Amino acid sequence: KDQLDVFALREQFPVLERRVHDDKPLVYFDNAATAQRPLKVIEAMDDFYRRYNANVHRGVHQLSVEASEQFEGARESVRRLLNADSIREVVFTRGTTEAINLVAQAYLRPRLKEGDEILITHMEHHSNIVPWQMLCEQTGAVLKVAPINRQGELLVDELASMINERTKLIGMVHVSNALGTINPVEDVCRIAKKHDVPVLVDGAQATPHMAVDVQALGCDFYCISAHKMYGPTGIGALWARESILEDMPPWQGGGEMITRVSFEGTTYNDLPHKFEAGTPNISGAIGFGKAVEFLEETGYEGIVWQEERLLEYATEKMQAVDGLEIIGTAKHKGPVVSFTLEGAHPNDIGTIVDHYGVAIRTGHHCAMPVMQFFNVPATARLSFAPYNIRNEIDIFLEALGKARDMLA
Ligand code: PMP
Repeated sequence: KDQLDVFALREQFPVLERRVHDDKPLVYFDNAATAQRPLKVIEAMDDFYRRYNANVHRGVHQLSVEASEQFEGARESVRRLLNADSIREVVFTRGTTEAINLVAQAYLRPRLKEGDEILITHMEHHSNIVPWQMLCEQTGAVLKVAPINRQGELLVDELASMINERTKLIGMVHVSNALGTINPVEDVCRIAKKHDVPVLVDGAQATPHMAVDVQALGCDFYCISAHKMYGPTGIGALWARESILEDMPPWQGGGEMITRVSFEGTTYNDLPHKFEAGTPNISGAIGFGKAVEFLEETGYEGIVWQEERLLEYATEKMQAVDGLEIIGTAKHKGPVVSFTLEGAHPNDIGTIVDHYGVAIRTGHHCAMPVMQFFNVPATARLSFAPYNIRNEIDIFLEALGKARDMLA
């Protein structure tokens, strides 16, 4: 029995009706870069601008009250998504990148001494590498990297053996955007806890595909981006336990994050507003909340069911293509197929299949160290969403065949 009515789901995404390049139906396989938006999200943001656009938290007038209610309602939706204890633990950010930078600067920087260590993995997105490198430059701390194997799986025992009394934070990706690997976050958190080391999880590619429970995972920081999970760009969230957030100084200063300002001194607002300086992305937050509702209504069970079938079918068909190598063959894997094709540059493959209406990603996927590990300059990548169908994979395979004839 079908666990998801894919065709009904597709109807919620107007862009899937697009035709590109001489009337070819759009096949959108670049969901890991940014997913598409359902009507629910688009209409809620449109409604905000049409009916109750106003600034939040300060107004006494009706529109401001409505905007504030919707904005804070979205925070409650994100709390539910992550099973956080309280909305005080949900800080809106511009996305995963900003959430990680916030933790680096407001949490870790004041705690770091020269020679301290930050431990990450070899499969991180640049957003979970560069903020730590910058912090190391600022403080004299050292960045350590836990290894992966040829399947693209994290070597947890090796990571465990790298933890010592100088380790001040572990940063790890939940689901790799470049390889698809699903990491054993719970195991790493259990090990880290024994050493009293906090764990930050980059969950950008997890929330689109799986139920995330930050309390069950046992992590200390969890970072997400709305646009990867069917919400708008420019908004995301940092989750951290209340006690940790209470202990952290603010990062950016300005309006909204204060309770009282005078030239003698300033007192800061309560959580989570202490970390949200300036007028926030109000429409973005409202869209984010609707994206959570969309995921709840669709259900992760159906999403996983459809995505696993797509991944299995694409993997089987692609493995049979001569000269094609799939990069990232982890046992636990999200719906991502990164690959190289002998004699053809990924960018050329991407350009040719685009001509057949198929949107894929090519390049280093903001994970250059992963490319270096596999000794490739770039890969081509398909990434699926539950609205994708098997027939679209067939269209891709046909286009790939054409690309091969032309290039290889
Ligand atoms: N981490 C991972 C695994 C990602 O895939 C991405 C987005 N490609 C990011 C972090 C960064 O997210 P954002 O650009 O939305 O801040």
